[in-house]
Amino acid sequence: MEVKFVHPKRAYQARQQELDAAWRSVNSRGAYILQADGEEFESRLAHLVGKKHAIGVNSGTDALYLSLWALGIKQGDEVITSAHTFVASAQVIAQLGATPVLVDCHDDLLMHEEDVRYAITDKTKAIIPIHLTGDVSRLSDDLLYDLKEKKIHSVEDACQALGAKGLGYGITQCWSFYPFKILGSHGDAGAITTDDDALAAELRELRNHYKKDYSKWGINSRLDNIQAAILNVKIKYIQDTLFKREQVALKYREGFKDVEGLKLPEFTHGRVWQDFIIRTSRRDELYQFLKESGIETMKNDYPMPIPKLENAIKIESETLRIPCNEWLKQPEVEYVIEVIKSFYEKA
Ligand SMILES: *Cc1c(COP(=O)(O)O)cnc(C)c1O
Repeated sequence: MEVKFVHPKRAYQARQQELDAAWRSVNSRGAYILQADGEEFESRLAHLVGKKHAIGVNSGTDALYLSLWALGIKQGDEVITSAHTFVASAQVIAQLGATPVLVDCHDDLLMHEEDVRYAITDKTKAIIPIHLTGDVSRLSDDLLYDLKEKKIHSVEDACQALGAKGLGYGITQCWSFYPFKILGSHGDAGAITTDDDALAAELRELRNHYKKDYSKWGINSRLDNIQAAILNVKIKYIQDTLFKREQVALKYREGFKDVEGLKLPEFTHGRVWQDFIIRTSRRDELYQFLKESGIETMKNDYPMPIPKLENAIKIESETLRIPCNEWLKQPEVEYVIEVIKSFYEKA
């Protein structure tokens, strides 16, 4: 049997009629830039996330970049984020001329409060908590209060966590609709959500050349209307998507419960499943074994932690992402479990 890591074809075929109709509708109206579909998606997203505003942009990376920019992050400022993340989370800080301050992660793959506190200086202007794999990076009310006192903003990197509960404490949440995210478009797309009226208005200007009065330079980072139309189809199925991904994760948990030497991800309340990451000291050997058995896995998207921090390095060398999405068939999930179990039994 062959088990693929992602299933763009299955995703398309399952909703082909609706997706094709959405695409045709946009074309027949010639509605390509900043049109009704984009507005509809923004309002659907704001509703889903429970925020007042959603601003569609080009990508999750731009969502982060524009959030920091709108908040006035500039050269000389420091922004704290986790060493264990996709490079975009740190890249956007440097793009603005500010300094990324990367803190080590813990066994749950997230940065923890004590490390954030330790990293704060007079120059800290923002932090970017990463809700990695769909597990929410929670901050205590205490810390949130202290950050507010110090005028340090929280910009949440929620690119892997659509549908999760317990996020939304930051001034903005940044979303990615890259094809293989929980909600995936047919190209690049992203969005920012916020409750702040003034910030939302500023972000709408910045993403579209600051045409209001040209008092600042903006950029072109609009959410493409065709992508928005595709997303309007897919977002209707979001609860089903989240449920099915969770079912896969629960099957893995049950299947691997007696396997020694394999560490499973945290099943924290309210989390969603962008990724199911297992951890083992025999990672490379397991990767190869799965590959030879027809199972596609991913070592990670973060080939190296940006600064050499101890836990981040260890985690990079011991983690493996196994297939976990709503398009997997039951026998495929069972096969993954069986093969991983046999790996541990043969040794
Ligand atoms: C995907 C992702 C991004 C970037 O999103 P793009 O839409 O690909 O630009 C940023 N941070 C994290 C954690 C991501 O997973």
